Amino acid sequence: MLLISAEDIQTQIDAAEPLINKLQKLYGSLPKTRCQCERPGQCCMFLPQMTWIEALQWFGYLKALGPGEKENLVRRFLLFFLTNPARQSHCPFLADDGSCGIYEHRPFACRAYGMWSHSYGRQQTDQSREGKKALVAMWRRYGIELPEDVATHEIDYCGKMIVCGKKAFTDSRLMELLSKVYQLDDAQPDLQQRFENGYQSDFSALMASLVWGPRKANLNKYAVIKDLVQKNSDVRLKKILARAAVPF
Ligand code: SF4
Repeated sequence: MLLISAEDIQTQIDAAEPLINKLQKLYGSLPKTRCQCERPGQCCMFLPQMTWIEALQWFGYLKALGPGEKENLVRRFLLFFLTNPARQSHCPFLADDGSCGIYEHRPFACRAYGMWSHSYGRQQTDQSREGKKALVAMWRRYGIELPEDVATHEIDYCGKMIVCGKKAFTDSRLMELLSKVYQLDDAQPDLQQRFENGYQSDFSALMASLVWGPRKANLNKYAVIKDLVQKNSDVRLKKILARAAVPF
């Protein structure tokens, strides 16, 4: 399995600019929304699903940051990668006040959350819960008993999002738009496949692999989760994070 290198990303960030512009146009087709939640940000517990071009958009954002801010964000992604699903975490872009630190570049999944019909949204949430149970079983096979309430935690699908404007936005319209977002990846099929198959489209896993290489990233994760769960210790986690170097 071919992986994605820092060079691949550097090369593609500029090349993908027209695709990212198209992506932003597609985002612009979505209606405006208003969040009525009394706990804004509670739906940002995890990293959103994203396409390869959306991941490149995030790398472009990171690349443009100053060194201090970039390092801080890279560490937040590594922290997410290393501790999830043993610790309750949240998207590295979630700010303390519940706002999104990458609002203009948040993926389609974030933008459409709360817009899908409740029956479809609930179905997706149930599938995600089942996936998390499978994850608990997988870690059990490695001899690690994850805290089940943390590892399988998933809020109920949001019913408090107000879609502004009179035009109803149906699931089929959302699906149509989403498929156009996916189609942008067709311009870079090789990297799309690598992102999906090598990293399960998980931005934090790709970031960890860029920092440590894929094997060491997984070994680090295993050791950190084991310490957190079995010794309630984050000493190793802190050491690993302190030594991590920004890959680009
Ligand atoms: S990108 Fe923004 S909106 Fe999406 S999960 Fe992260 S903090 Fe929330």
